[in-house]
Parts: sequence; C-alpha cells; structure tokens
Amino acid sequence: MVDAKVSDMDVVQNKGVVLHPNTGDVYSHVFLATGHNPPKRPKSRFPILDPESLTEKMVSKASKVCVLGTSLTAIDAILKINKQNPNIEIHLISRNGCFPKVQPLASQAKNDSFVSFIKNGIGSMSNITAERLVCLLNDGLNEHYDGNEKIVVSHEAKKEPHIDECINNLESDISRSIYSESCISSYLDSVHETFCDAWSNMSNKEKSLFMKKYNSSWMLNRHAMPLFNAIKIRNLLRFGKIKVSCMDIFHTEVFDGFIQKEGFDFIINCTSPSYAASDNTLISNLIDKRILKSDSNGGALVEIEYEDTFYLVGQLNKGKNFYTAAIEAVTESIRSNINLLTESSL
Ligand SMILES: Cc1cc2nc3c(=O)[nH]c(=O)nc-3n(C[C@H](O)[C@H](O)[C@H](O)COP(=O)(O)OP(=O)(O)OC[C@H]3O[C@@H](n4cnc5c(N)ncnc54)[C@H](O)[C@@H]3O)c2cc1C
Repeated sequence: MVDAKVSDMDVVQNKGVVLHPNTGDVYSHVFLATGHNPPKRPKSRFPILDPESLTEKMVSKASKVCVLGTSLTAIDAILKINKQNPNIEIHLISRNGCFPKVQPLASQAKNDSFVSFIKNGIGSMSNITAERLVCLLNDGLNEHYDGNEKIVVSHEAKKEPHIDECINNLESDISRSIYSESCISSYLDSVHETFCDAWSNMSNKEKSLFMKKYNSSWMLNRHAMPLFNAIKIRNLLRFGKIKVSCMDIFHTEVFDGFIQKEGFDFIINCTSPSYAASDNTLISNLIDKRILKSDSNGGALVEIEYEDTFYLVGQLNKGKNFYTAAIEAVTESIRSNINLLTESSL
C-alpha cells in the first residue's frame, strides 16, 4: 500500500501507468475511486470550514455557530456539536429549511403495485424526459402512497420557515415512523433500480434538467434520517437550541450581511458534495491529458482508447448511473469491473 496523495498519472506507451508521486511501479490497470468532492463554498469574506476540520476544542469554546445545509450531513454535524457542547446555539441555513424524511422504525414491505406502476410507465416511454419521469413518479405516489409528499421543483430560497412549521413537520414524520406508516423514502427506494435504468436512458439535456429542477426534492424525499436523530432534532428545535433560516448562500451580499449581523464563532459547510469531476486535482489533470472527459451531469467518462486501462468507481460515475456513491453501488461497481477484467484475461 502506498500512502500518498496522487496528483497525476502518465500512460507510458506499451508499458502501463505511472503515478505522481512515483511509486516505482508501473500499473496495467487503474481503478479511480476518489470518492465525493467537498461541497462548493460560497464566496464570502468569512471563513467557512468543512465538517471534518471541526475539533472538540473549537466546539467547546463556541457559543453560537452556523451550519450551512439541513440534510443528512448537517444533521450529523448538529448532533455532534450538541453532544460536545449542549449550550451552543446552532443556526441552520438552507434554501428551503426542510429536514430529511424520517426512516420507518420497522422495515417496510415493498408496495408491489407502486413498483409495477413505475416499471410499466418507464417501459412504455419511448423518450424518457425529466418531466415525464417526475410526472410518472408523482402519479404513482398519488395512486399508491397515502402521504402527501411529491417530487417538486426546487425553489428559490423561500421565506423564513416558521419554527412551529418545522417542528410540526418533524412531529408528523416521527409519528409516521413510530407507527410504521408508509414513508416516501421507502417508496422511492423500492424503484431504485428502475430509476437508475431510466436515468441511463435519458439524454444529457434531460439529465441536466432533472438535476436542476428536481434533484433537491428527490434527495430530500429519498434519503431519510434515523428516527433517533429526528427526535433529537425535534427536541433541539423545541428548546430553541436550533434556529432555521432560508437563504441562497451563493447570494454573497445577503449571506455576508446575515453572517455579519449574527456574529457566529464559526460556519460549517454541510451542503451537498460537488459532483464536478474537475474539483479533484488528480481527475482534473487526467481530463487535461484526455484520459478522462468530464461528464456535465456529474463525474467523468474514460476516453475510448483508455477504456481497458482506467476504471471509474463510485461518485465518478454519477452522470452515467445516478446512484453511485452508496457502499452497495461502490462494491457492485468494483465487482463488475473485476469480473470484466478477469474474463478478458482468460
Ligand atoms: C457525509 C456523507 C455521508 C454518507 N453516508 C453514507 C451512508 O451512511 N451509507 C452509504 O452507503 N453511503 C454514504 N455516503 C456515500 C459515500 O460516498 C459512500 O458510502 C462511500 O464512502 C463511497 O466510497 P468511495 O470509496 O467511493 O469514496 P470515499 O469513501 O470518499 O473514498 C475516497 C478515497 O480516495 C482518496 N483520494 C481521493 N483523491 C485522492 C488522490 N488524489 N490521491 C490519493 N487518494 C485520494 C480519499 O482520501 C478517500 O480515502 C455518504 C457520503 C457522504 C458525503
């Protein structure tokens, strides 16, 4: 094992691949599994930290902190901060102020009628567009799911959410979870494979449209948090330990004005990881060398002449497969690539 940050790679004709820094070895095949990129930072005159850089000492000294984002990473960060310093006030900022759904306490059986409805609907589409896909999902939910949630257009930053509204929404999701009522995330999870197949048959333009208009709503409804975390967040909201504001953090003037007024001890970026392959220096260098090309819908593609040498694993396949980062998808991707390799060498 080599413990180093690989900054670049060169293909040596008829030999293989060498790494920079040079390990002294030449490799016949390279699996690129560089994982997720950190989220994009808003342009701001205030320092913005990644969650990993947070130390217990920093948290213990702080009295008021700001967390950017309200989804799963933000929830983990809030719970960690609160555990280390229960007196701290945590101010959350996101565009919509919505928390993730709550995982059902008991695992739920698939709703076969919903799964068939989506499968048949996608099967009958000659041309899969973002709008048709979302319409189909919403029609299926309307017909087979008893909750109110739908996939909606990601909106501009909405007005301040009323804390009571946040608490009530969580309250209702928590009781659905406890009483094992159906949960939208289980429904969306049940059509995971069909959704990925549909995605791989969509044009780049339609993929981009989906990412722009619906990805945020899809992610919020698809990825639920554990019940235990939801109860903690609900309690922190009730006790006034968490405040929520809606804002577009990339609107620098408004963002900086807010941060200035509030005077936080530090700001942590818990927004979604960046899907842009070029945000990783190594991948960016391989794109410059035309070994890889960037995929506008996330991740990269291997240029045809290098397809027998370079294999992409995980998040780098985002544009091609949509669901790529979960441990299961990463393992499957490695397995199928290794199978391909062993078959070709037989
Ligand atoms: C906050 C967060 C929470 C998540 N929670 C879950 C979860 O609960 N369940 C789940 O299934 N998935 C979860 N995921 C998805 C997660 O991406 C995968 O589970 C898994 O970590 C992906 O594995 P990976 O090997 O592709 O990437 P990673 O685990 O990100 O590993 C990439 C590795 O490549 C190294 N690397 C990158 N560039 C270089 C370089 N130039 N030189 C050398 N080394 C380099 C990195 O240091 C890192 O060690 C989560 C993702 C995030 C961001």
